Amino acid sequence: MSAVLPVVGRFAPSPTGPLHFGSVLAALGSCLSARSQGGRWLLRIEDVDAPRCSSAAAEGIVRTLESLGFEWDGPVVWQSARTEAYQAALELLRQAGQVFACACTRKEMADSALARDGTRRYPGTCRDGLPAGRSARAWRLRVGAGVVMFDDRIQGQVEEDVAADVGDFVLLRADGLFAYQLAVVVDDAEAGVTEVVRGADLLDSTPRQILLQQQLGYPVPAYAHLPVACNPAGEKLSKQTLARAVQGQAPARVLVDALGFLGQSPPPGLAEAPLAQVWDWARAHWDLGQVPRQRSLPAPAYA
Ligand code: GLU
Repeated sequence: MSAVLPVVGRFAPSPTGPLHFGSVLAALGSCLSARSQGGRWLLRIEDVDAPRCSSAAAEGIVRTLESLGFEWDGPVVWQSARTEAYQAALELLRQAGQVFACACTRKEMADSALARDGTRRYPGTCRDGLPAGRSARAWRLRVGAGVVMFDDRIQGQVEEDVAADVGDFVLLRADGLFAYQLAVVVDDAEAGVTEVVRGADLLDSTPRQILLQQQLGYPVPAYAHLPVACNPAGEKLSKQTLARAVQGQAPARVLVDALGFLGQSPPPGLAEAPLAQVWDWARAHWDLGQVPRQRSLPAPAYA
C-alpha cells in the first residue's frame, strides 16, 4: 500500500499593496481546499522582488487576513529571507548544465517575438556561450523541446510548448534578484506543498514551474487555477488597476461574496452571521467542483 501524502496548501501573496478582493479569492480557495481535506495551510509572503514590495504592505496583508478569520499553520515564510535556498537550487542546476549565463539586455531582445505573457521570447543568443567580450547579466534555464502538460483541477488539461512560447527563461535576474519562477518552486517543494490553488492569471507560469520541478527532482503538486476577479473595465483587480483594499469592509460580507464568486452557494443571511459561523459553513460545504471554469469574472461593486 502506498502512503498517502498529507495535503498541504498555501497562499503566497506578493506584498505590492493592500489585500484586495482578488487576493481574498486565492486565500480562501487555497485555504478551504486544504482544510476540507484535513490538510495544512501555509502563508508565504512573496517579497522576492524587493523593489516592488514593501514590509508595510506585507504587514497589512497579514493583519487583514487575521481580521477575516484566516488561520495558517506555522510561522509566516518570507521569501526575502530565503536567498540561500534559491542560490543552492541554482547551483544544482548549474552543476547539471541546465542553466547558462546570459548577457542580453532588454533592448537587445526588443525585436524578439512576444511570449504569451507579454514578455519577450528568448531568442537563444547566449545558449551556447557568451558572445566574445560580453559578461553575464542573468542566468537562464535551458528549456528543452517538448510540450508540458498537466491536469488542472478546475481548468482541465493544460499544455504549453515552453521552448516555443517562452524560450529559456530567467532564474537569476540582471539586478541580482531571483526570479519568481524559481523562488516559488523551491519554496513549495521545501514546505511539502501538495496542491497549489491560485488565480488563473498564473496559469501560464505553471508549465515553467513544472519544468523546474522536474529539473530539480521535486514532486509536482496538484494545480487548481481559480477565476480572477475583474473590474467593470474587464481588468484583473490589482494594485495597477487601483483595486480597493478589503480592509474596512465587513469581514463576513467579504467572505460570503468570495464564496459566491467561487461558485459556492452560501445560504441567505450568512453575511450577517458571526464570522466563525461563516467559516464553519465554508469548511463544511466547500466544493471545488462548483468553482466556475472561466478564467475571469466580475468582482463585487466595492472591490
Ligand atoms: N505571489 C504571487 C502573486 O501574488 C502568487 C504566486 C503563487 O501563488 O504561486 O501573484
